[in-house]
Amino acid sequence: MMTELLFRDDAYAKSATAKVVAVHERGIELDRTVFYPVGGGQAGDTGALIRATGERIPVADTRKGEAIDSVLHIPAAGTPQLESGETLTLEIDWPRRYALMRLHTALHVMSCVVVAPVTGGNISPEKARLDFDIDMSLLDAARIERETNALIARAIETETVWITDEELDARPELVKTMSVQPPRGAGRVRLLKIPGIDLQPCGGTHVRNIAEIGAIRVLRIRSEGKRNRRVEIGLVGAA
Ligand SMILES: [Zn+2]
Repeated sequence: MMTELLFRDDAYAKSATAKVVAVHERGIELDRTVFYPVGGGQAGDTGALIRATGERIPVADTRKGEAIDSVLHIPAAGTPQLESGETLTLEIDWPRRYALMRLHTALHVMSCVVVAPVTGGNISPEKARLDFDIDMSLLDAARIERETNALIARAIETETVWITDEELDARPELVKTMSVQPPRGAGRVRLLKIPGIDLQPCGGTHVRNIAEIGAIRVLRIRSEGKRNRRVEIGLVGAA
């Protein structure tokens, strides 16, 4: 079952109405959703599904289903069973998601300050990291922080660009992340463009203007193995 992914066209959609399509042991499928399923290193959304009676079903996590563009909303333990066909109001935990969007976009900016192949990455609401295949001596926390924040201060609008699988195949330099290849099979690939800074395949949620990131700080740099030098960042002013 394919779900209409409202976050893909509007990352700022905080709520929506949707119908229950199926209730599986693994989670609830809806005909449309604002809940981002864990993927591309970004954590899945949490929030609530609200029934017509006003009863709130907390969503503990969101994951991809087996089919392309299918999404499983995972209810918190012990919540009542929903019915197929039932109409719900969806609400994501917006402060949490917005922190994820700011940190996620910050990683795009930072990936242009640290110029090296990316071997991994992760984004949680509190902190985000990229792993690079780079010599440790080339990673200077103060420089990464200063240069990333200088780019953020340019306050550039982000854009979503779609290209075909073939166009991506013709431009392999666009794929910085060695471990996470962009999803194939749908015939087209979504790119995040930060004009003048970054262009790469990404299905995640981003802020409209990089100024919304504010500023980042480098929390930690450490070696996680020969090809994994991990740079962990947080938002300035975040708890
Ligand atoms: Zn992204």
